[in-house]
Amino acid sequence: MTLFKTLFSGLMLITFTLSFAQNNQEVKIEINKIAGNVYMLIGQGGNIGVSIGEDGVFVIDDQFARLSPKIISAIRTLSDKPIKFLANTHWHGDHTGGNVNFQKEGAIIMAHKNVRKRLEESTNRDGSKNPKEALPVITFDDKMSLHMNGEEIAIFHPDNAHTDGDAILYFTESNVLHTGDTYFRGWYPYIDLESGGSVNGYIEAAKNTLMLIDDETKIIPGHGPVSNKKEYKSFLTMMEGLKSIIQAEIEKGKTEEQVTKDASLTKTYDDQGYSWNFITSEKIRRTFYKSLKQ
Ligand SMILES: [Zn+2]
Repeated sequence: MTLFKTLFSGLMLITFTLSFAQNNQEVKIEINKIAGNVYMLIGQGGNIGVSIGEDGVFVIDDQFARLSPKIISAIRTLSDKPIKFLANTHWHGDHTGGNVNFQKEGAIIMAHKNVRKRLEESTNRDGSKNPKEALPVITFDDKMSLHMNGEEIAIFHPDNAHTDGDAILYFTESNVLHTGDTYFRGWYPYIDLESGGSVNGYIEAAKNTLMLIDDETKIIPGHGPVSNKKEYKSFLTMMEGLKSIIQAEIEKGKTEEQVTKDASLTKTYDDQGYSWNFITSEKIRRTFYKSLKQ
């Protein structure tokens, strides 16, 4: 029996390792034209935005380092101009993992100042520190603009939303918005409280951004398919609804464990499909409680 178990778990491990390696190999970079100059690339990790035109290529987020060659060759099918700039919407590894490779490719990286700070101070899983090529070269506090490919690209920072270093980008002529992880389409959002994110900041970011766009605006969310103002609005409604539900529980004196375990609190939104494997309804109840309690 023991021998069988050992053999079996060994076999499972091999199968798992093989399928993981295969998954890695099989990641295909899907190219979607969004509007005007702007494309969205989907691979693994955060959605990538790409602007092409006579001035060169501008990229938003770069997923993981191992995907860089594939991402760069996907970009090369759209344009042979230099990759001039790259913006990081925040510091998480599924949005900044390719930074070193893109700097080597010649891109100047820009981000909110806290992205640079967090990438500089953090330690990787293997104990190593990020090399300077992984860090943004241009940083900003509140907002900045990039003028290229015939339009102004407005880049602004919402306070303490998904993290404390988020950037949202708006292509003023193409009428495309890239929200980074301040918007997960149709899913409960990941709010990284440890990195300075907050429920109130997240809601504020959605409110302010919605004022900027119109019914025709195409939205590239941090994760999930292309979206629009109508869907972003209903996402905000969910967030505000959930906030008042959890706030009421806090005022009744409920504990974090009570709120986390009470599935009835999120039922309306769970039924709409907002729960997913990474941010389950239990996790979102805990996050809202912790953040609103602060
Ligand atoms: Zn993120």
